[in-house]
Amino acid sequence: MHEATLAYAQGLDKADKLSTFREQFFIPKHEGRDAQYFCGNSLGLQPKCVENLMKAELNDWAEYGVEGHFLAKHPWFSYHHFFSESLARIVGAKKDEVVAMNTLTVNLHVLMQSFYRPQGKRYKILMEAGAFPSDQYAMETQVRMYGFDPFDAIIEITPREGKYIIEEEDILNAIKEAGDTLALVMIGGVNYYTGQFFNLQQITAAAHEAGAYAGFDLAHAMGNIPMQLHDWDVDFACWCSYKYLNSGPGGVGGIFVHERHGDDPSFFRLGGWWGNDEKSRFKMQKGFVPQKGAASWQMSNAPVFNMVGHLASLQLFDATTMKELRAKSEQLTGYLEFLLQQVNNLSFTIITPPEPARRGCQLSLLFNENGRKIFDHLAANGVIADWREPNVIRISPVPMYNTFEDVYKLYETMISFG
Ligand SMILES: *Cc1c(COP(=O)(O)O)cnc(C)c1O
Repeated sequence: MHEATLAYAQGLDKADKLSTFREQFFIPKHEGRDAQYFCGNSLGLQPKCVENLMKAELNDWAEYGVEGHFLAKHPWFSYHHFFSESLARIVGAKKDEVVAMNTLTVNLHVLMQSFYRPQGKRYKILMEAGAFPSDQYAMETQVRMYGFDPFDAIIEITPREGKYIIEEEDILNAIKEAGDTLALVMIGGVNYYTGQFFNLQQITAAAHEAGAYAGFDLAHAMGNIPMQLHDWDVDFACWCSYKYLNSGPGGVGGIFVHERHGDDPSFFRLGGWWGNDEKSRFKMQKGFVPQKGAASWQMSNAPVFNMVGHLASLQLFDATTMKELRAKSEQLTGYLEFLLQQVNNLSFTIITPPEPARRGCQLSLLFNENGRKIFDHLAANGVIADWREPNVIRISPVPMYNTFEDVYKLYETMISFG
């Protein structure tokens, strides 16, 4: 059983095998001391090693000019290759099934060109209600592009009356019901608002059973929850790198495409020279010849300066495993949950599922009253959380840099309200 004391929290930090990772990050300050930063679900912190890598690229550019494409320490011609092994480990994929490119919403649209190809009566998209707005806009405009009415073509699964999280069973039943009208199931792996993690394997199997593709937006799952996208038979996925992957604001995104599509040259993808076979890329000939794997969805050459933070951050992920991070994460979020249950001066509900298998690190607190005032009280005391209208505070303790003491201090600040 946990204890709600500072000494107990510090004891957990002492026993934490991953505690040294924190020193690798810049921790934002509040009145001269480390703030309690719980916004890794929005923007991960800066790894200290970014600066040197950034300087090295600037130097290589200064020294070599165009020759840097081949002579730079990390040759720009091949820059996207430097991420594949790390990303593949994080999402549970083969190296050629992933690539770092573009940004999240752009990738969603690019992948839809391959995986949303309405034909006859099979034109519907099934998604969770309350998805991140960018995803909603993407789906809405994709179906409009083919002349469909979003209210007809998009099936949204809502929580049951009076509930906040969506029953998996309702998703599976709706897929079955949609049957041969369904072209695509597109779900946010972890819902940004409630923190609910969906069973990607089950959803994928149900989608395939109905003859549809299954794709996932992993913005809030990436670097947060271990996954096995290849074994789960997921068709495609995309993510951003600036949340739990700590790669900097607007940093390069990434995609997963299962090898059964990626290695099939007849499977449609929009072309660009960087997706073309590398051997013939500079022959400047007519006729797009996709290279192997997810890399064939690339269009442009690597935006190197937008990838440096990613390279730096993935070095840290390479120094541990998702399994170890997840073990600490469950413990850290479990401790947060325990402490929140001891708070009796405030009225709120934790709307994130209580089962660790159905959530990542984030807990979402729905306030019945004073939500905004409590959020401001936290901020004034150096606790950086995240406010979502109309009345939710999201708290994401990140195993790479948050401590049990951080979590304790959040609790202490909450009970001092009023
Ligand atoms: C953060 C987030 C986005 C942001 O998209 P960008 O294209 O990177 O600006 C989109 N979708 C989801 C689900 C997100 O969590």
